[in-house]
Amino acid sequence: MAKPRKKRSSTLTSPSMQILRDKDSMRAWSRAQKALGRTVGFVPTMGSLHAGHLALVKEAKKRADVVVTSIYVNPTQFGPNEDFTEYPRMLDADAKKLTGVGCHALFAPRDLYARSGPPHETWVDVTDLTQTLCGSARPGHFRGVTTIVTKLFLIVEPDVAIFGDKDYQQRRVIQRMTRDLDIPVEVVGMPIQRDTDGLALSSRNARLLPDDRLMALAIPRAIAWAQDAFAKGERRVKVLKKAVREQIEASGPRVDYIEIVSDATLLPAKGKLTKPAVLAVAAYAGDVRLIDNVELR
Ligand code: AMP
Repeated sequence: MAKPRKKRSSTLTSPSMQILRDKDSMRAWSRAQKALGRTVGFVPTMGSLHAGHLALVKEAKKRADVVVTSIYVNPTQFGPNEDFTEYPRMLDADAKKLTGVGCHALFAPRDLYARSGPPHETWVDVTDLTQTLCGSARPGHFRGVTTIVTKLFLIVEPDVAIFGDKDYQQRRVIQRMTRDLDIPVEVVGMPIQRDTDGLALSSRNARLLPDDRLMALAIPRAIAWAQDAFAKGERRVKVLKKAVREQIEASGPRVDYIEIVSDATLLPAKGKLTKPAVLAVAAYAGDVRLIDNVELR
C-alpha cells in the first residue's frame, strides 16, 4: 500500500459531523474545506456500515485533513433481479457509527439522478477490466458503479478516496477510470476486513439466516485453503479452482463464479501460475450473494 500522503494542515480541531443531503451543499462544504487549506478524503459506500467501512474511514483520516463518507444505494449498479429493494438501509445508525470514528461529513443524497426533465443518458464505461468476474456475472453493474463514482467525485472533489479490496475488481476499475479520465484523486485500496469467524464483512451479511451464515463460512475457508496450497507450491489453475469449488459446494453455497485471474489484466489465468494472480469467488448462501478474494503472489 502507498504511504499516507502528508497532511497540509496539522492544527485541525475535530468538528462535529455535518450531514449533507444534497449535492450543492456537499460541494460547497468540500470547497470551503479546501479554501481553508484542508485536504479532503472520501469513502463512498451504500451504507449499513460495519467495521470494514469504518476501517476505510480511519484510513482516510490518516491520509487527509477532513473525511467525507457518502451513503447512497445506487440503483444503476443493480440488475433487474438483484436485491436493490431489499438492500439494508439504516441512516441514523450509520450516522452514529461515523460520528464515533470522527468522520467529518456524511453525504447522504436523497437522489443523484435527474428526477424531472429528460432522462439520464450519460455513462462511464471501463471496457476491458470489467469483462470478467462480477463484470460478466452482473451485466451493467460496473457501468453503474463507474458512473456514480464519477458523479460523486465531481460533487465531493476529494484529494484521496479509499476503496476496499473486498470489491477488488471495483477498486481496480476505479483506479483505471481515474487514470484514463485524469480525475485528480488518489485511489487507495484497503485489505479485506473479516469477522472473527473469517467471513468477509459485508452489509449483505445482515440478511443471512443463521444456517446460511454457517454455510457461508465455507467461502473464506476454501479461499484460505487455496492461499495455503499456493504458498506450498501448487500452481495449477485447474487444480486450485476445482478444489475451491468442491469445498464450497460441499457445504451448501451455490457458486456463481470461481475464477483465478491475472492481476495485471483480470483475465482468466490458464495452465500454471507464473505471475501474480487473484482468486475470486462469488457464491450464494441462501439468496444472499457474497464475494471474497485473495491475491496469489
Ligand atoms: P459498499 O457499501 O458495500 O458499497 O462498500 C463500500 C466500500 O467499503 C467499498 O470500497 C468496499 O470495498 C468497502 N468494503 C466493504 N466491505 C469491506 C470489507 N469487509 N473490508 C474492506 N472493505 C470493505
